[in-house]
Amino acid sequence: MSVVMKFGGTSVADPDAISRLIGVVSRELSGDRGPRISGAPTVVVSALSKVTDTLVKVCGLAEDGNGSGAAQALDALVERHVSIASAVTTESRASVVASVKAEFDELIGLVHALAVLREVSPRSQDAVLSVGEIVSSRIVAAALADSGIASAWVDARTVLITDAEYTSAAPDMTATCDRVREHLAPVQAAGKVAVLGGFIGATASGVTTTLGRGGSDYSAAIFGACLGVGEIQIWTDVDGMLTADPRVVPHPRLVEQLSFHEASELAFFGAKVLHPSTILPAVDKNIPVRILNSRRPENTGTRITAEGRPDATGATGLTALACKRDVTVVDITSTRMLMAHGFLRRLFEVFERFKTPVDVVTTSEVSVSVTVDDTRRLDDIVEGLRHFAEVSSERDMAIICAVGENLRSDPAAFARAVNALDRVPLRLVSQAASRRNITFVLRNADVPEAMTRLHDQFFGRD
Ligand code: ASP
Ligand code: MG
Repeated sequence: MSVVMKFGGTSVADPDAISRLIGVVSRELSGDRGPRISGAPTVVVSALSKVTDTLVKVCGLAEDGNGSGAAQALDALVERHVSIASAVTTESRASVVASVKAEFDELIGLVHALAVLREVSPRSQDAVLSVGEIVSSRIVAAALADSGIASAWVDARTVLITDAEYTSAAPDMTATCDRVREHLAPVQAAGKVAVLGGFIGATASGVTTTLGRGGSDYSAAIFGACLGVGEIQIWTDVDGMLTADPRVVPHPRLVEQLSFHEASELAFFGAKVLHPSTILPAVDKNIPVRILNSRRPENTGTRITAEGRPDATGATGLTALACKRDVTVVDITSTRMLMAHGFLRRLFEVFERFKTPVDVVTTSEVSVSVTVDDTRRLDDIVEGLRHFAEVSSERDMAIICAVGENLRSDPAAFARAVNALDRVPLRLVSQAASRRNITFVLRNADVPEAMTRLHDQFFGRD
């Protein structure tokens, strides 16, 4: 078993970042991170930072018929890539610079045509965006080789097979694993580092697709699942997931290990390190995913596994805290609800009609309170609800979510949390014995105090 190492845009942003990447890969090869697992690592890279955003803008310019604007933006990209490619290579400099230029020449022609037509279909957009990962992976493969690491560039489009849902294609795991066996496994077995672009794939007939923004983590998980690696490493520019947002709580700690479900709860509240659904192929196969900082490779990072922390009866009942501000609470009261059936359906139908998701829900016999994040249709919703209930709403509220698998086995944690909040006024509280979270809704203004109190209680004062 080997590892997949994925490097995000900031970890390949410039020559310094690429030399750090080389350091991290050679460290892995020399077994510095623990016992060497057989087979060379597979490296998956994003486009250089901001490149995908620029390519999205290029598509917008082409759609507006602004061919010269698009060409200008592309020229700047060519320059940046050629300069980085030259800086990080030696022997393969001429060939990698030529291939980068060739990829961009083709792209410039394509974008020119799109600008003439003033039309960028999702399929064309994928062709444009894919160039970011194609060139970044070529540069990294050449840089690794020139630093003396046996490596090979593999075109991700020959390996990652998807449906034809352009801009958010779904992988065909069976076909992809077949291709991985054919094109990737032999490279790994030969002791060479395979380097592929993340985010991109192709349909069975070979048309370029992308997995959706941020899709490189997904690619890494897909390749890792097919290869059956021992670990998937997501190399980024933070130390991992933290016990709370450092902008809210002064000294959060690193979460060393958490479960996939905990990661999903936290992601909903904006813990943006990675989107958990993108690592599902790995979790399904019980492959741990580790988030690591390419500026501090000696750190152990955060490990995400299916089951989470092994010390389910550990000292603290929580894994992390998260919050989401600026939500609105809607209180709906109706005496008609007493003993009636079908009331909740009617109530939620109103939210559905106005396409507004509801996040937290609490109910009593005659009232229901919900929170909504998106208030664009709130007036319509309130009006719709007033046909059968009294309605009031309150803005400037926030949700605090305390997450921990251990909550399920530690009934005292809830009381500890409520006690810790002391006199902070709580608007709604939602908890169930079987759940891995406790949710509090309170005023925006009370978030810093409430978060700090909870954090002190469960993770200790600094
Ligand atoms: N480069 C792509 C993006 O920016 C994919 C990724 O980085 O994960 O969305
Ligand atoms: Mg990302």
